[in-house]
Amino acid sequence: MRILVVEDNPRMGDLIAQGLRERGFACDVARRLVEADDALASAAFDLILLDVGLPDGDGLDWLRSRPQRGLPPVIVLTARDGLADRITGLDAGADDYLPKPFAMDELAARVRAILRRPGNRAEAVIELGGLTFDPAAQAASALGQRLDLARRELGLFELLMRRAGEVVRRGQIEEGLYAFDEPVTPNAIEAIVSRLRRKLEEAGAGERLHTIRGVGYLLKED
Ligand code: CA
Repeated sequence: MRILVVEDNPRMGDLIAQGLRERGFACDVARRLVEADDALASAAFDLILLDVGLPDGDGLDWLRSRPQRGLPPVIVLTARDGLADRITGLDAGADDYLPKPFAMDELAARVRAILRRPGNRAEAVIELGGLTFDPAAQAASALGQRLDLARRELGLFELLMRRAGEVVRRGQIEEGLYAFDEPVTPNAIEAIVSRLRRKLEEAGAGERLHTIRGVGYLLKED
């Protein structure tokens, strides 16, 4: 799951991003609305956290001006906690509203709740030949056994499960697992794949992960 945080306060943006990363989400921070537009144009996000007061405009005006179709769910973050502002936010097309200051655990709970809603991608458990990925619980299993995966291993597993039977190219994996400001070291993807493969092998399901040399990887049933 990849989240775009639109927040101009550097400390607040970094705290939110760090908190979400610790909870297993990939996270990018945009400091301005124009950066948010660029991010949305170049990567797919599952959710947007949107501040209202931004240097190049009002977050709610920006939200109102965007076509709703194709935009991921939006949680508005703002210090304006009056009822009128809340209604304005929801009318502008936000899915939820969280007044600052908030506890990181509450933000994470709201994020998970939005991602669980029908129509959002997090709804259904994905299954493939004895492998399962539960997006709401962020849990993976193989042949009935829970897989203990680190954050990027879980992200890779999710990516491959969502596109089961298709080859997922290395570039797409990098984009899905790393935020724009996180460097991808050489062989990083291979290392994540090999750790995931070892854990699948330990669960007796290693042969489902296929390497397409020079292209990418795929999960499929035997
Ligand atoms: Ca602000």
